[in-house]
Amino acid sequence: MNRRNFLRTSALGLAFAAAPAISISAADSPTRQATRNGRLNLTFEPYELKLRHSFNLARSQRTTTPGVQVRIEYDGIVGYGEASMPPYLGENVQSVCDFLGRLDMAQFTDPFRIEDIHAYMESVAPDNRAAKASVDIALHDLTGKIMGQPWYKIWGLNPDRTPNTSYTISYDADPTEMRTKIEETAPFKVVKVKMGVGHDKETVEALRKYSDVAICVDANQGWTDKQQALDMCNWLAERNCLFVEQPMPKEMIAETAWVRERSPLPLIADEFLQRLPDVARAAEAYDGINIKLMKSTGMHEAHQMAILARAMGMKVMLGCMTETSCAVTAAAQLSPMVDWADLDGNLLIANDIFDGIKIIDGKVTIPDRPGIGIELI
Ligand code: MG
Repeated sequence: MNRRNFLRTSALGLAFAAAPAISISAADSPTRQATRNGRLNLTFEPYELKLRHSFNLARSQRTTTPGVQVRIEYDGIVGYGEASMPPYLGENVQSVCDFLGRLDMAQFTDPFRIEDIHAYMESVAPDNRAAKASVDIALHDLTGKIMGQPWYKIWGLNPDRTPNTSYTISYDADPTEMRTKIEETAPFKVVKVKMGVGHDKETVEALRKYSDVAICVDANQGWTDKQQALDMCNWLAERNCLFVEQPMPKEMIAETAWVRERSPLPLIADEFLQRLPDVARAAEAYDGINIKLMKSTGMHEAHQMAILARAMGMKVMLGCMTETSCAVTAAAQLSPMVDWADLDGNLLIANDIFDGIKIIDGKVTIPDRPGIGIELI
């Protein structure tokens, strides 16, 4: 399907639901013969993600997240990808569509040239990490399908070693609403609490009324005083907290290093760190890194970041944005390499269009399907 047809299909309200499910058994079908041209065909479409609960972060609140869904077709096989653009990362639907529209993917005749394609994307424009990630994820889905294998197998990873995932809860001043949010955490072994919003201890105390589940904390740069940050780390350590993510603003490197020297809990870099060269810098002030595909430009560099961080003795966490099961399942392929996962982005939205990652007994479970492991619903 070329881009015009794809967009027209979407305009009819059929969107991805109208697209045929692709499987390796399609290899010899008449359709495949008809579309064989040996070149990569990229199509894309904005898709707004609707959040099940409004999202309260240290610096904003929102009820939707802009996204762009991507397809790369090659020889009748389709790989799916996705860009998710929370506002604080600086990308939006327009910037992603502009970037994707500038790409001449038809110049490539081999979808396995992922390094070359990344180099080409860097030459088109810097930054645009989510846009690049959407192409990268679609390429991994496509090449995995051509090989007939999921990426965890291609990477040599053991799917039994996936971590528990945390489920994010945010503070609500309404006790009934807060209680509902806490009840929704019941299937999970780890609950992530967003802090730095002025109700830091209240959220943990509300949770502790009903549950002794392990928590991890994401301060989202919300603590600006190093003594306050250290006091919170000590307070949290007494309440079954596993680690603290991005306790202080990313610019406050010396202060964060000061807290790290004294904190009983590991400190994990999130906003501080985007791509591979940032891993070594993070080691100066943090015990670990939070890898996200929308920061790392996708699976290719995320895999390299996980290898480097582990080689440096750092903890590795794998996170996501609010995304459909497309990008979250792509991230899950890497999850046997990490200490902690925060792969709940698909559970936070009301309009997922893919089936993929499952959380079973709190643990990340990777589907046994080729590529990134998803199917259109
Ligand atoms: Mg974070």
